Amino acid sequence: MSVLIFVDHADGQVKKSSFEALTFGAKIAAQIGTTAEALLLGTVTDDLSTLGKYGVTKVHQVANETLNHLDAQLYSKVIAEAVTTSGATVLVFSHNQTGKAVAARVSARLKAGVVTGACALPDTSSGNFIVKKTVFSGKAFANVNINSPMKVISLNPNSFTTIAGEGVADVVALNVAVDASKVRVAAVTKIVGEIPLTEADIVVSGGRGLKGPENWGMIEDLAKTLHAATACSRPVADAHWRPHHEHVGQTGFQIAPNLYFAIGISGAIQHLAGVNRSKVIVVINKDPEAPFFKAADYGIVGDAFDVVPKLNEEIKKL
Ligand code: FAD
Repeated sequence: MSVLIFVDHADGQVKKSSFEALTFGAKIAAQIGTTAEALLLGTVTDDLSTLGKYGVTKVHQVANETLNHLDAQLYSKVIAEAVTTSGATVLVFSHNQTGKAVAARVSARLKAGVVTGACALPDTSSGNFIVKKTVFSGKAFANVNINSPMKVISLNPNSFTTIAGEGVADVVALNVAVDASKVRVAAVTKIVGEIPLTEADIVVSGGRGLKGPENWGMIEDLAKTLHAATACSRPVADAHWRPHHEHVGQTGFQIAPNLYFAIGISGAIQHLAGVNRSKVIVVINKDPEAPFFKAADYGIVGDAFDVVPKLNEEIKKL
């Protein structure tokens, strides 16, 4: 009857989005009067007992190194078995790359109702389990009642406040058979020194208004000052001014940082679809009619080549 929260990791460390999912799952458990437990596939260097501070009493670990890389088919099989073994009735993912690849597959295996992209705690009054989720690229909300006994939810990153307390969790080995993976990892390329875009608190993003790749120095400087990740619009990645892993939007990464700087980006609907869940949006554009200003919390009408270096100098003084 517990709530089981899937814990994602990279480079031996638990991902920040998992802390949020753990807090969210622990809150659901408190709401429905049960315990929250965590599930981790693979091996990490982090001390898993510390996950107790996010409200879980137990961390189940399937410590098989085959599971250190995402293989959606293998993951969904192992997770479904882990859910059955642990007796959980609610399974929580972060709606990140792993959650997107796996949540629906696991729910199919468990014959469970699934809501992806949840943005608030479920309404469990009157015996319901109604989950609010974003739809139409964040333009509207839907309230979905999951009425199957087993329920699967993935939580939109940065939509719930992480709360860390004092608890310590028991770490237990979970004995689940792991098949050979059909995925062969040929190489892993690490982007040294860069903050992963989907995990970043602050993102500094540039568009075609920056004219060319040679002008990205000021974007990188501002990002460095702010300890931020860098991103770009699609035409910028398509023109190879920036690498494709920086492309945000409908067809790129969907991100929800606390602070998003859009510099020389018009604010096309396809771009907004990937960034409009950011908590605060700052737009710098020389055209006062640029559509992005409608989505901005703060806007500076001005030439990026003028504004960005000055802004950087002022922030450095803080
Ligand atoms: P532009 O539209 O050329 O805008 C440049 C902006 O810079 C303008 O607003 C201009 O006023 C401003 N500017 C110019 N010079 C300066 C200066 N010196 N200082 C300050 N501001 C300046 N786009 C994405 O970004 N992500 C996606 O995932 C995506 N998916 C798409 C999917 C589909 C199916 C389609 C059809 C399109 C998609 N697009 C996507 C493209 C999208 O429609 C826009 O064409 C794109 O976002 C525009 O990029 P931009 O704002 O960088 O460039």
